[in-house]
Amino acid sequence: MNKAKQYSKEKYILFFVGTVFTFLFLIIFQIFVSAPIKSIVILWTPNFYLIVILYALLFSVINYWAGFPLHFYETFFIEHKYGLSNQDLLAWTKDEIKKNIISGIIFLLFVLLFYYVLKSTGQYWWLILAFFWMLFTLFFSRIMPTVILPLFYKYSDVDDDQLKADISKLAKESGIKILDIFKINFSLKTKKANAAVIGIGKSRRVILADTLLANFSKQQILSVCAHEFGHHKRAHMPKLIVFSCVSTALSFYLLNVCLDRIVVLCNASSIYDIKIFPSFLLVLYVFSLIMMPIQNWFSRKLEVEADLFALLKTKDIGAFKGVMQKLGEMNLADVDPPKIFKYLFYSHPPISERIAFAEKHEKSS
Ligand SMILES: [Zn+2]
Repeated sequence: MNKAKQYSKEKYILFFVGTVFTFLFLIIFQIFVSAPIKSIVILWTPNFYLIVILYALLFSVINYWAGFPLHFYETFFIEHKYGLSNQDLLAWTKDEIKKNIISGIIFLLFVLLFYYVLKSTGQYWWLILAFFWMLFTLFFSRIMPTVILPLFYKYSDVDDDQLKADISKLAKESGIKILDIFKINFSLKTKKANAAVIGIGKSRRVILADTLLANFSKQQILSVCAHEFGHHKRAHMPKLIVFSCVSTALSFYLLNVCLDRIVVLCNASSIYDIKIFPSFLLVLYVFSLIMMPIQNWFSRKLEVEADLFALLKTKDIGAFKGVMQKLGEMNLADVDPPKIFKYLFYSHPPISERIAFAEKHEKSS
C-alpha cells in the first residue's frame, strides 16, 4: 500500500475510533459522572447561570483530557509519522493552548446562551437559538481573517509582481472586484499546500499557502486562484452559511422533540437540570453525524462548480491537472478512495474525479 493510501486509511480509522470514543464518553459521563459533578458545583453557588458555567467548564476540561491521547495522535503524531509536519512539540502546544482558549470561550458562552434562551423563551427556543447561531456564524466569519487567523499564521504580500498582475487580470476577466490576495506562512506548521477564500464583507480575501506558491508553476497558481474566484463569484460562502444555519436549526428542533424523553430517561428534575447536558450533546452529535454526508455532498457540489469556473476562465486543462496531481502528492491525498468514504468524509471530490472532470470538460469543449 502506498504512503498516501496508508495515511488516509489511518485517518478513516481515527474517525471511527473518535466517533466511538465520543459516544462512549457522553454515555459514561451521563450515567456516572454528571450527577456527582452537579452536586459538587451546587455546593459552590446557588446561582443557576454560575452552576451552568462551572459545570460546562468541568465538562470541557474532562472531555479534553479524556480524548487527549487520540487527539494528540491525530494532530501531532500521525502528521510527523508521515513527514507532513514542520511543527515541533512546543509550537504544537502553543497552538493547542490558543485553540482551546478560543473554543472554550465560545463553548461556555454558547452553553450559557442555550440555557438562557431555553429558560426565557417559549416553545420556539430552538428557532431563536438558531438565529443567535446565525449571528455568531456571520460575526465569526467576519473576524476570522482579521482576528483569528493572525493568531496562528502571518500574512504577507505575494512578492512576485508579475504573478500579482496576472492574478489581478484574471480577477478582472472573471468579473470580480479585486479581492485582496495574501500569502500565509503555512510552511511554519506543515508541508501540505492549500488555498481558500475566507471572510465576509470587507474581510473577504483569498489566501494562498506559501507552500503552494513555492511549489506550483505560475499557470498552476492562476488555476488555483481561478477556482477560489469561482467560489466567490458563485456566492459559495453565503450558501454554506445558510446551509449551516438551517442544519443547526434542525438539530435544535430535534433536541426540542427529545427534551421530555431525556428528562424521564435520566430521572432529571426538569429540562433545565444541568445533569442531563451530556444527553443534549449526544442528540446534537448524532444529528451532526447524520448531516455529515449531506454537508459533504453539498460542499462537493460547490467544489465542482468552482472547478468548472476555473477551467472556463483559464482554459488551461494542463495547469488544472498539474495542480491536482501536486496537491495530491503534497497532502498525501487518497486520490481514489472507496465510494463509501467519499460520501462520508470528502468535502472535495477525490483527485481522480476532479482530473476526470477536467478531461471530460476538455473533450466537450
Ligand atoms: Zn474549493
